[in-house]
Amino acid sequence: MNDKVKILGVGVNAVTMQEALDRIEKFFEEKKPKIIATANAEMLMRATYDEELKKILNDAELVVPDGAGTVWAAHHLGYQMPERVAGYDLAQELMKRAPEKNRRIYFFGSAPNVAEKAKLKAEELYPGIKIVGTRNGFFSADDESKIISEIKSAQPDLLFAALGVPKQEKFLAKYKDELNVPVSIGVGGTFDVMAGVMKRAPKWMQRAKLEWLFRAILQPKRAGRLIALPKFVLKVHSSKQKT
Ligand code: UDP
Repeated sequence: MNDKVKILGVGVNAVTMQEALDRIEKFFEEKKPKIIATANAEMLMRATYDEELKKILNDAELVVPDGAGTVWAAHHLGYQMPERVAGYDLAQELMKRAPEKNRRIYFFGSAPNVAEKAKLKAEELYPGIKIVGTRNGFFSADDESKIISEIKSAQPDLLFAALGVPKQEKFLAKYKDELNVPVSIGVGGTFDVMAGVMKRAPKWMQRAKLEWLFRAILQPKRAGRLIALPKFVLKVHSSKQKT
């Protein structure tokens, strides 16, 4: 099905949360390795100067519109984009459905102990869930082969990689065939939120499309990254003028 909307050269699927979940359900059944990306404005902006990331996103089997900026861009360019599908929410929905399907999940990424804490939280929230392995996201190139064999031997059906953008997307793409995990997703700060290390914006701020502001206030180190947002708006606008 071609429901891709091109935003700054990257195809983003115009799907609702439910449509994304239905499609991922089929990915599990197909058992061939597939990559899902969650595209926010910052990621799309980065893809304009990071060709490797752009190619990975365009090769991904599903790219969900993670963020008010992505939905705005699609609408501004004259496309339908039904709703925001936040990576954090998508990960929670997948975990919620995992026990009845007897699905095995691997948590890879974030600072030491964070994935373990997120695992405990997942076990509390989703009784019966099988988190078959955890591993922090700080490693050198020499550690990669060991990490790959650890993940492979855990035989997950679903791999969450929380290494930040674009490290997580590049790692998943590089090892896609070797890992042979049916569904892999880059989930950014998801384990941090589950472990209580980071907070998610309150619902009213999410509804007001201000999640980016909340994160900037809580993590002032990220504030510099905010410049990507007005740049994104201008770039999307000028790409519209050119078409
Ligand atoms: N991280 C990691 N390895 C690294 C760099 C970052 O595991 O080399 C983790 C970091 O601890 C955090 C997550 O990746 O848990 C990045 O979260 P963030 O919300 O910054 O994601 P982004 O906005 O970059 O997708």
